[in-house]
Amino acid sequence: MVYGALDIGGTKIAGALVDAEGRVVARAQRPTPARESAQSMMAAVNSVVDELAARPEWGALSCLGIGSAGPVDTFAGTVSPVNIPSWRSFPLVERVRNHPAVAGGVEPVLVGDAVAMAAAEHWVGAAKGAANALCMVVSTGVGAGLILGGSLHAGTTGNAGHIGHITVDQNGPVCPCGARGCVERYASGTAIAAHALKAGWVPPDGLPATAREVGISAQEGDPRALAAFDRAGRALAAAIAATAALVELDLVVVGGGVSQAGDVLFGPLRHHLGSFAVLDFTRDLPVVPAGLALDAGLIGAAAVGGAASGLFRAGAGGLTVT
Ligand SMILES: [Zn+2]
Repeated sequence: MVYGALDIGGTKIAGALVDAEGRVVARAQRPTPARESAQSMMAAVNSVVDELAARPEWGALSCLGIGSAGPVDTFAGTVSPVNIPSWRSFPLVERVRNHPAVAGGVEPVLVGDAVAMAAAEHWVGAAKGAANALCMVVSTGVGAGLILGGSLHAGTTGNAGHIGHITVDQNGPVCPCGARGCVERYASGTAIAAHALKAGWVPPDGLPATAREVGISAQEGDPRALAAFDRAGRALAAAIAATAALVELDLVVVGGGVSQAGDVLFGPLRHHLGSFAVLDFTRDLPVVPAGLALDAGLIGAAAVGGAASGLFRAGAGGLTVT
C-alpha cells in the first residue's frame, strides 16, 4: 500500500509515493510554470503524475493527497494560489481525478500547504503523539495547521489555522489581505527583511536583502537584525498565546525558512510568549522546531490522503481528518 502525494508550490510542482511509515519511496518534480496558462500549469501536474504512475509502486496506490499554495477550497476542490495567476478557482481535484492513471476508487483530497505540513509533523515529525498542537510555517508568509483532539482540523474549506492573518495590532499597518496589523506584517521573511532595512541594516556584500541574511547578521549580534527578529518573535508569540487561549494547546511546532534562523527567532518568541500566555492553562507552552524539512509538504499531503481515505482510522497512525 502506498500513499500518493502532490505538492503544488509557486516554484515547483512535486509528487511522491509515500509508504505507510511516512517515508518517500519515489518522487517526481517539475518547475512551476507560474506565469503561463492554466493548461500549461495542469500539463506540468499531469507530467508529475505520469512519472509517478510509471513506477511499479503506483499499482499499490491507495489514496492521493494534494497540498497546494493557497487559498484553496477543499470543499469545492479548487485552488487559487496567489503566486499562480492563471489558476483562479481552478478545479484541481477534478482534473487530477480525471487523469487516466488515477484509478476510479482513488479520490484525490486537497488541503492547503500549511495544513499539509501540520499533518506531516503530526504523523512523523515533532508533533507526533500530540493531542492539540499548532504547527506553523514561517517563511515568505506565515501559515499554520491545527491538530485538535488528536486529529487534523482542516476546517470546512481547508483553511483552518490561518495564523498569519490574525491581527496582533489593531492600529498596525494595512495588510494585503485587507485587515490591519496581521502577524505576517511582522513575522514573515519579507517583513523581517523590510524592518531590518528600514532600521539601517545593510546586507553583507553582494547578498540579497532577505530574512536569511538578516538571520546571519542577527547571529553575529547586529542590533538592527536582532530587533527585526525580536519584533517577529513578539508578533508570533501574541498570535500563539491567542490560539492557546482559544483551543488549549499542548505544543507549538515552528518550521519554514525563517525558523532556520534558530535561536535568534526562538529566543525572542519564547521570551515574549512568557508575557502573553499568562493564564494557567496557556503558561509554559512548549515551542519546538519542526521535525521535517524539505519533504514535509509531500509527506503531509500523503497523510491527509490516507486520513481522508480511512487508512489512518482506528488508531493506526493516530491521524484522522475532522
Ligand atoms: Zn492579513
